[in-house]
Amino acid sequence: MIVQRVKEELSELAGNPIQWDCPLAPLTSFGIGGAAAAVIVVEHVNELEALLNCCARNKIKYRFIGRGTNILVADAGFDGVVLLFGKTLSSISLLEETKTGNVRIQVGAGCSLVKLLNWCAEKSYTGLEFASGIPGSLGGAVVMNAGAWSGEIADVLDSVTVFSKTNGEEKITRRELDFGYRKWRNQRDTAGEKRLVVSAEIVLQKGTKETIQTTCREYLAKRKEKQPKGLKNAGSFFKNPPGESAGRLIESAGLKGMRCGDAMVSPVHANFFVNMGSAKEYDIKALMEIVVNKVKEESGIELQAEVHFL
Ligand SMILES: Cc1cc2nc3c(=O)[nH]c(=O)nc-3n(C[C@H](O)[C@H](O)[C@H](O)COP(=O)(O)OP(=O)(O)OC[C@H]3O[C@@H](n4cnc5c(N)ncnc54)[C@H](O)[C@@H]3O)c2cc1C
Repeated sequence: MIVQRVKEELSELAGNPIQWDCPLAPLTSFGIGGAAAAVIVVEHVNELEALLNCCARNKIKYRFIGRGTNILVADAGFDGVVLLFGKTLSSISLLEETKTGNVRIQVGAGCSLVKLLNWCAEKSYTGLEFASGIPGSLGGAVVMNAGAWSGEIADVLDSVTVFSKTNGEEKITRRELDFGYRKWRNQRDTAGEKRLVVSAEIVLQKGTKETIQTTCREYLAKRKEKQPKGLKNAGSFFKNPPGESAGRLIESAGLKGMRCGDAMVSPVHANFFVNMGSAKEYDIKALMEIVVNKVKEESGIELQAEVHFL
């Protein structure tokens, strides 16, 4: 609970009006979960700094949401401040385009990958096509090292500008960044503080608009064929174990169509859990337990969630 005095303090520091007791389900692709004590859309790094300091001073928890496409929110909600990035921290700008066709752009963490890919296609910049159809933000893509079709965001990053309470704003170069499969290994700084992604510099090449658009269309068509349509989900629920496919393991264990309340293992793609209408976090977690146990029993492999929990 945030007491009135702290509410007033936060309101003074935030540029945008704060949404108190704000339902989080609509901010996620799963459409599940309770409310946050406060949701703040941040527009500037100095505002972010002031808000985080206020949270620290008053011992208030905070979490960050990008597009909410890889998050399961607790039914009880989140008794703290949820921060989102607004328009000013979602912009795209060209930093450099050489005569030989090398391109460097800067992208705000709040920018959606859909907007970024459309912008790149319009400018004929190639290199990010693998990400077409990934519905997250640039910041979320960095944290998750999002990828598909043998490409991942780590491949195209030149640097990431981050903010942490320990060091403030700093730029981490490609050499210092350490990514693994669907994770950013050194997201925490030396003091153990989680770094927030503010923006990233991305290296691309000049290509041909038609080729870029065709590749993106092909990837989107493959997704349409393989992924559930019209039902809320958070993409792949589990990480693929080394050399294996989580979807294949779940399907082999006979779990396609398995249901707990309104949560179901998609009959289309076994690594997608779908919300059939009014699934709760409780249903998803119960389904997760069944799937993890049955797959372990059948294959000896323990699946790890790719989805983050809030
Ligand atoms: C239909 C569908 C298809 C998908 N396909 C793919 C796919 O092919 N490949 C793939 O990799 N993923 C896929 N995903 C999952 C998801 O889109 C990606 O993981 C994406 O990168 C998450 O971005 P987001 O902005 O939604 O992050 P969120 O879900 O909002 O957040 C994910 C995590 O990142 C943190 N975070 C978000 N932004 C920031 C920031 N600026 N600074 C610090 N922390 C931050 C959050 O706190 C959370 O821990 C899919 C999801 C859906 C629904």
